[in-house]
Amino acid sequence: MFKKILIANRGEIALRIQRACREMGIKSVVVYSEADREAKYVKLADESVCIGPPASGQSYLNMPAIIAAAEVTDAEAIHPGYGFLSENADFAERVEKSGFTFIGPTPDAIRMMGDKVSAKQAMIRSGVPCVPGSEGALPDDAKAIVQAARAIGYPVIIKAAGGGGGRGMRVVHTEAALLHAVQTTRAEAGAAFNNPSVYMEKFLQNPRHIEIQVLADQHKNAVWLGERDCSMQRRHQKIIEEAPAPGIPRRIIERIGDRCAAACKKIGYRGAGTFEFLFENGEFYFIEMNTRVQVEHPVTELVTGVDIVQMQIRIAANEKLPFTQRQVQMRGHAIEVRVNAEDPFKFTPSPGRITVWHAPGGPGVRVDSHVYTNYMVPPNYDSMIGKIIVHGDTREQALARMRTALSETVVEGISTNIPLHRELMVDAKFVEGGTSIHYLEKWLEHHKR
Ligand code: ADP
Repeated sequence: MFKKILIANRGEIALRIQRACREMGIKSVVVYSEADREAKYVKLADESVCIGPPASGQSYLNMPAIIAAAEVTDAEAIHPGYGFLSENADFAERVEKSGFTFIGPTPDAIRMMGDKVSAKQAMIRSGVPCVPGSEGALPDDAKAIVQAARAIGYPVIIKAAGGGGGRGMRVVHTEAALLHAVQTTRAEAGAAFNNPSVYMEKFLQNPRHIEIQVLADQHKNAVWLGERDCSMQRRHQKIIEEAPAPGIPRRIIERIGDRCAAACKKIGYRGAGTFEFLFENGEFYFIEMNTRVQVEHPVTELVTGVDIVQMQIRIAANEKLPFTQRQVQMRGHAIEVRVNAEDPFKFTPSPGRITVWHAPGGPGVRVDSHVYTNYMVPPNYDSMIGKIIVHGDTREQALARMRTALSETVVEGISTNIPLHRELMVDAKFVEGGTSIHYLEKWLEHHKR
């Protein structure tokens, strides 16, 4: 096992990884930007290294600075967390070439899944069902594009092969709008992701977002750890996640889960990963694979009892998975809400000093957050300041615990989306379960204030 790991991230996930290390008796090195100098998890780390100014381009995305930090501290492995460099194949490659272990998949696997066109092709080859769409990237030829859309049937969605974070997508309802949409998406994709390649999919009208968590070791073992329902989204960004997905028969989930584990073996995947699907009329359609730990991993941890971050570390250290698929048991129900520093209904970011932070507690309540009273939320990064996760024997109990937890939570000095979560936890449709990916945005329209 490693003696020392460098954490190439910030905020709640840096703290989450640090906790896993500490429990395993591994020393942690935290890198930080000047904006995060005062953060408590930086002070709690065994060692910390400043890697640059607040702008992420010069700090958390600064590969030479991060690798140099690993060199000067004698770290053996680098955990990239999520976001930032976590799905950057070039970074993974540079880490390994510099003699460190990258805690994640191989650079080749990251590269294959990072291009959504090659990811879909790999899935089709591995027997994972995909959204009907163009065969590979769209050509330049206008006629061929029109033909592809006719074959798929409107509405279609144009998506950037290199897209991520809910950006680089455009829905097209009519042939008249098609070519312009392809052109604009191409231009945006070129500018935002440095890859102008786009592809086309059938736009599913009312799907749910269901994803499968997998773990694969370097000894040809792969398991799946149940599913998560992440349909509560705004602008393609998840804000509430839960496990298991309400109302879907286990045998349907098991079929897709087994396929995901089989696909991992087929492509020689290693580490933690997530297969994301849209689910409509009883069918799963693969949309993308994330080759890293996800924000919403705690709901899976609570229902399976598996520590996903520790598993990532064990797998990177070449250990075998300590359990088989049969030994994976799901118990109860878990729900996570993302706490964002933003106006709860207008969504404008709300960085600044937190004057009061009172976290909830009690049975089945977990809070993953790096903030505290007097913490300064820097304006430079993502607005998420933590997550409240609850576990109960049933979904009803989990909902009740979440309502209690949200009622106990006090954050002053900045705005957060907690008032929105409080309303959603008593919303009749959400409480019933099984809402689609459009539900939240429609709900927000009806609750304009
Ligand atoms: P990203 O990598 O940017 O998150 P995804 O491919 O995972 O992109 O898609 C993000 C979200 O966009 C999905 O959760 C869903 O809400 C919507 N979406 C993507 N593809 C489709 C589709 N074919 N039909 C309907 N909605 C889609």
